[in-house]
Amino acid sequence: MVVVLEHGISDHGKAALRAFLEQRGFTVREVVGESETIFGAVGHIPIDLREVEMHPGVAKVVPITKPYKLASREFKHEDSVFQVGPVKVGGNRLVVIAGPCAVESRDQIMETAAIVADSGAVMLRGGAYKPRTSPYAFQGLGREGLEYLKEAGERHGMPVISEIVSPNHVDVMRDLVDVFQIGARNMQNFELLKTVGAEHRPVMLKRGLAATIEEWLMAAEYLLAHGAEDIILCERGIRTFETYTRNSLDISSIPVVKKLSHLPVFVDPSHATGLREKVLPVGLAGVAAGADGLIVEVHPEPDKALSDGPQTLFPEQFEKLMRDIEAMSPVVGREVARLPHRRRIVPLGRLIRTGESGSDILAGTSEAPGPSAAAGNPAAAATDTEAVRVAFQGARGAYSEIALTRYFDLNEQVVEAMSRRHFRDVFESVLSGEADYGILPLENSLMGSIHENYDLLLQYPDLQIVGETQIRIQHSLIGTPDASIDDIKTVISQGPGIEQCRDFLDRHDDWEIQPFYDTAGAVARVRDAGDRTLAAIAHVQTAAYYGMKVLRESIETNARNYTRFAILTREENAEARDPDMATVVFSTPDTPGALFQCMQILAERDLNMKKLESRPIHGEPWRYMFYVDVELPETRQQFTDGITELEAVARDLHVLGLFRSSRM
Ligand code: PEP
Ligand code: MN
Repeated sequence: MVVVLEHGISDHGKAALRAFLEQRGFTVREVVGESETIFGAVGHIPIDLREVEMHPGVAKVVPITKPYKLASREFKHEDSVFQVGPVKVGGNRLVVIAGPCAVESRDQIMETAAIVADSGAVMLRGGAYKPRTSPYAFQGLGREGLEYLKEAGERHGMPVISEIVSPNHVDVMRDLVDVFQIGARNMQNFELLKTVGAEHRPVMLKRGLAATIEEWLMAAEYLLAHGAEDIILCERGIRTFETYTRNSLDISSIPVVKKLSHLPVFVDPSHATGLREKVLPVGLAGVAAGADGLIVEVHPEPDKALSDGPQTLFPEQFEKLMRDIEAMSPVVGREVARLPHRRRIVPLGRLIRTGESGSDILAGTSEAPGPSAAAGNPAAAATDTEAVRVAFQGARGAYSEIALTRYFDLNEQVVEAMSRRHFRDVFESVLSGEADYGILPLENSLMGSIHENYDLLLQYPDLQIVGETQIRIQHSLIGTPDASIDDIKTVISQGPGIEQCRDFLDRHDDWEIQPFYDTAGAVARVRDAGDRTLAAIAHVQTAAYYGMKVLRESIETNARNYTRFAILTREENAEARDPDMATVVFSTPDTPGALFQCMQILAERDLNMKKLESRPIHGEPWRYMFYVDVELPETRQQFTDGITELEAVARDLHVLGLFRSSRM
């Protein structure tokens, strides 16, 4: 059963309740959620629920109806999010694990680790004890293989995962792996589940070849009941009558399990298909269906792999998969997880606290701390969890706040979002040091540039763009909790929000449409008015923020609606990591071909221009500033030379920032 605690319960009250439940034979686990704290009490003990309900400090008691308790959503409403070394699993992130089926030699795993880390994997896989169908097939390198795996992971700051096939291997594996993998063939090896569960370590539990979803969740329950907390479920295909692929990926298990359980669900497209050319589309399908991550087999020379070669990707195929996932992730409201030294901006807190120079961090990727060290050292983890203050324009719950939360969350930074009334206030807050960063919408894929912000960028030359992010704009109709769509008479939202939902609104021509100063503010107004006939147009997350009801989801006319935001900071803090884009602004002399000459320099230097925007210069009628986004070439010198040459031709040239682009 779930025992929801009263908000003000004291530690003493909690201890008394725990003692009462344990005395009755229940195992008790405390879960502290955002909105409530609960005790999960598990055990097959007959008890009158009213007895528990009447206990001091208890708000309510909810029986768990499912056979699995700790794994169920009833037990824990929020998605489980946990840390494996530097990698956060669950939530809005997409975590990609890659590596060979088996560790074959030190060289092979070292080479593979470098390849997959370079393409963006955040964890390294590699089997050392292989459960093979044939006893004559390669069985793995055992302990030696795990030592190589650990060394390769540490070199790139990647936690490692490897399969455990026997309870006897726990002692060998404990210090060599970060995540224990329970293979499909062992999903119901209950002695193994109990032993691994008792290790209190992260576990990936693959779905058995012929296991139902309920059996799979019951296997997870074994792990949880014996002490494990951080479990990744992995759908890797089940046996069906189909023979063309090795297994059949049960794609619908992903949304089904995500509804039934709070545990993150991954997809293994390699074992699901058994064929490398099917891995990419099936992996993408997994992401589209809501998977929290993928585990993929990659080898420098798959044709020579000692196991599972036909399903193993070539390095360039894996690179393509990562790019496609990156392009797809905003559509499904996710961001691809990155290792700390590959994240888009240097954590500001680290720069300030340690006095390390940013360029050292940029250069010193090999200095990345080993995941096990970070995991075992809460002090080290705490350094990155100090809140960064980020200013945004709009009321709380605005699209800008949704964007900044995703961006900084992916950077593993705790944020304090600071609502500001006007865009200029965002600049001022960053300049004065009141905020560490600011976030600004620069462009919408349907409406074009937000000119005010382009103009403001020029007026604050001490601020630099250090990052970029984009989110999908999905509007919903939001009313009071007791409203239904038939009650609505008036709809309020910001102008663009109304315009972007025109087709939907036209179908309700009896509604009065009123512009409001911003989308989130409109939801706040609906709440404050408490009027069932009033609705706002905004994001579903904004509805949740204000405790309002979504009356109709996705009402925007064009689903391909994205807004791109820039992240700003003061120049002295500006350190973008792995930047691949620059924004440059300049004006030109008033002579024929002046702009053409500037463009020619970019063309001759092979600098790819991604956007050109012109804005009037304030106070100089009919003269313009040109804003240019250019892709940074492999060698930075090529860009620097281009800028030097451009300076000779253009006027007032200014580099507004170097950053990692988020564009598809
Ligand atoms: C593996 O990951 O290499 C493996 C053997 O997977 P599964 O248990 O899903 O077959
Ligand atoms: Mn394999």
